[in-house]
Amino acid sequence: MSKQVSLTPMMQQYLSIKEQHKDAVLFFRLGDFYEMFNDDALEVSKLLNLTLTQRVGSPMCGIPYHASRIYIARLLRAGKKIAICEQVSDVVPGELTERKITEIITPGTATGEDFLEQGQNNYLAAVSCTPKEITQDGVTDIFIGFAYLDVSTGEFFATSFPRASFDEQFRKELGHIQPREILIQMSLAESVPTLKVLCSEYPHMLQNLYPDWHFSAATAEKRLCACFGTETLKSFAITAASPELPPAGLLLQYLDQTTGAALTHITGIKVYRDRDFVIIDDATRKNLELLQNLHDSTDAFTLFETVNHTKTAMGARLLRQWLYQPLRTAGEIKTRLDKTAALYRKEKELAAVRTILADVLDIHRLTGRVAMQRAHGKDLLAIKQSLKACIELAKLSKTKKLFFLQLPEGDFRNMEQLYTILDRSIAEDCPIAVSDGGLIKPGWSEKLDELRSTLDNANKLLESYLEQERTQSGIKSLKIKYNRLSGYFLEITRGSLKTAEIPEHFIKRRSLTTADRFTTEALSQLEAKLNDAGENIITCEKELFLAVQAEVFDRIELLHLLAKEVGELDVLQSFAHTAVLHAWVQPEFSDSGIMDIREGRHPVVETHLPSGEFVPNSIVLSSAADPAIPAFALITGPNMAGKSTFLRQTALITLLAQVGSFVPAEKAVLTPVDCIFCRVGASDNLARGESTFLVEMTETAYILRNASAHSLVIMDEIGRGTSTGDGLSIARAVSEYLLHTIGAKTLFATHYHELAKLVHPRLKTLCLDVLESEGKIVFLKKVIEGIAAHSYGIHVAELAGLPQPVIQRATELLSAAIPDNSVSSSAAAAQDYTVPEKKKAAPEQNLFTDEELIINEMLSVNTDETTPIEALQMISRWKNTLLNA
Ligand code: ADP
Ligand code: MG
Repeated sequence: MSKQVSLTPMMQQYLSIKEQHKDAVLFFRLGDFYEMFNDDALEVSKLLNLTLTQRVGSPMCGIPYHASRIYIARLLRAGKKIAICEQVSDVVPGELTERKITEIITPGTATGEDFLEQGQNNYLAAVSCTPKEITQDGVTDIFIGFAYLDVSTGEFFATSFPRASFDEQFRKELGHIQPREILIQMSLAESVPTLKVLCSEYPHMLQNLYPDWHFSAATAEKRLCACFGTETLKSFAITAASPELPPAGLLLQYLDQTTGAALTHITGIKVYRDRDFVIIDDATRKNLELLQNLHDSTDAFTLFETVNHTKTAMGARLLRQWLYQPLRTAGEIKTRLDKTAALYRKEKELAAVRTILADVLDIHRLTGRVAMQRAHGKDLLAIKQSLKACIELAKLSKTKKLFFLQLPEGDFRNMEQLYTILDRSIAEDCPIAVSDGGLIKPGWSEKLDELRSTLDNANKLLESYLEQERTQSGIKSLKIKYNRLSGYFLEITRGSLKTAEIPEHFIKRRSLTTADRFTTEALSQLEAKLNDAGENIITCEKELFLAVQAEVFDRIELLHLLAKEVGELDVLQSFAHTAVLHAWVQPEFSDSGIMDIREGRHPVVETHLPSGEFVPNSIVLSSAADPAIPAFALITGPNMAGKSTFLRQTALITLLAQVGSFVPAEKAVLTPVDCIFCRVGASDNLARGESTFLVEMTETAYILRNASAHSLVIMDEIGRGTSTGDGLSIARAVSEYLLHTIGAKTLFATHYHELAKLVHPRLKTLCLDVLESEGKIVFLKKVIEGIAAHSYGIHVAELAGLPQPVIQRATELLSAAIPDNSVSSSAAAAQDYTVPEKKKAAPEQNLFTDEELIINEMLSVNTDETTPIEALQMISRWKNTLLNA
């Protein structure tokens, strides 16, 4: 059989519809199933673990219609687009049923509750570039516009940046918002090859390429104005030349095409610049494990997990946003901190707020569904419950003189009104489908009540009619039954038929083995009456429901305001609760340039250790020209001494303070920072296809270009990814540059002890205390001034089971190379490592002696991963070097 012949009319219909939706998985309705064919079937059967079958030579798989939402949710999570094709004409045997695409569901545009993650935003993003160079903030370049929105909540954002910094900025934005789907300008993808590489880091993000003409500024302006109901976009800081305009416009057009719903809940767009918030670039985001850990990308052991005691989905989403967008100015920070403090101080009220908040549902997404006319009765009940809680919160705030939900009298009344409307109208046990009936409460509409009583009466009529026929015919077993196909009928069982005399006005409908079925004229009339009443009730309920929904929609601005206020309150109470729980303190802010953290703790590590086991540590740094306080702390200490923890806790305390949270310390006096950079040497990043050392250096270069005296720089073992000589030289040069040219507050941890010999008035050396007794070592996790005496590498090597001769030889070498371990006492050595005040023209050659390099290599050997053979080879290489020296 040739392929041509095997194509049934239905398959032809399938192929022609599929042709128009090549980029989507086509759900083709066939009776009670959605079927997928060909490549769709092959892919989806694998993704969803479905049985693959054949239909006239085509691979096929299917899912039951009633369970489709679960499967759709899973496909969306895998980054798939789904086109739903329904049967739109009645099914007539032997004829081809008409079918049409009724809905396109994509990961970035889905709004169904089962398709979304509760406490997370669901972003759809778009990126494009300006057609020619423009000048913005003094920079002339092609500019990249990046816009994103969450259609389920109506939140809409956009930003722009010069093409020269595309890689860092685009990576940062993607990392922060993790869109589910992105619309990409085709020519941008072609001219900037890294775009595809960066997107490929998010394999479940659906990518759609669009030709340039889709990014028209004029069309975009019209579409945005229409959506926001404004004449211009001036109030959103958007002009016709803004790079943000075209991608923002395309997002709305894309929603028009896919959802086809009204977007009235999208009432504005927030354009931001990098400088509006503390800059946290992608590497920093990852290294500090703010929202996702490095291990499995979940939120276990993250800062988010520690501070997230939010009670609402809005709060959880806002907390995620805030952690990536710490505030920059002392004024803004203080305002937020004062609110946290107000809740912190009133423990009783805090507890009350938390209890009430637990009753507030996702007002943002609920109103989104109302605006898109996709809400059902249960959604309105959820809004009602949330309103009740908001009214309680507002009352509490008023009587206890708190800061939240201070609504104008009119808004408050409006809120109560809406609550009353919803309370009186929507039945508590309402069904999801309007056609099931029972959506509206009795007493809400006279008309509906009347219709319902007609139906009730009709039922009574039916009963009395049956009674009448029973007495007249004398057939006691006579029953009135109903089924969907034939409606109401009278039934006489076989047994009774033998003895009974069938009345003349009984019209026989069917004869079954067990009984005969009849109808009568009177019964048909009754039935018509009943049907009418039923239908009228459904129609009436539908109308009433739409009217109630319109009441909600009329107050959408108020509901948005409530959603925003409740979200903020939730995050602030979460901060206050965390502070109570873990004994955190309110940080103070000044503009002195000083960062003074007394007895600080790591917010995450501490909470995962038994109480009291975490060793607190202090740090004072200043970026002001005041020479009395250094800007740069160089921290040495053996592996496992606690260096990395100390570094990160300093960054996390700074970040927490600038988002308005209390901090884990005894006291913290801070100056706002503009950027937080955190780099970790030798981090594996094979996914990006770059060597680890290249990544390390690229990331370091980025800091050196972008950090200022107001930044906080955390460098953990930078220079580890290369040979000792290179690594040490780079670490030193980077340190010098940070000290001289940038002057940022820096914490620099290193296992290169030589580096600790750097001398500079703005530099202080710290190390981690180690207790040595009877050949055993204990890491005290305490930061003290000075330089680590040993790296204890040989000690650790011995514990790891390196052969004794190797250990002995290493010990010999070590003592030969460093006769006096307290390096700082050696004046000559100090001289050698003193950093001149002016920048050096070129690095010196032979910065370190062979002995020093060998010792360094020895100390950085990972003994866990070294085989005895490798160890011997290393020793022989060292021997050669020393003999040839
Ligand atoms: P390093 O970077 O010096 O190798 P880490 O910072 O990775 O050391 O810490 C090593 C281990 O010690 C970690 O498992 C951490 O949980 C624990 N630790 C670090 N600092 C402290 C501290 N201040 N108090 C208690 N335990 C700590
Ligand atoms: Mg470390």
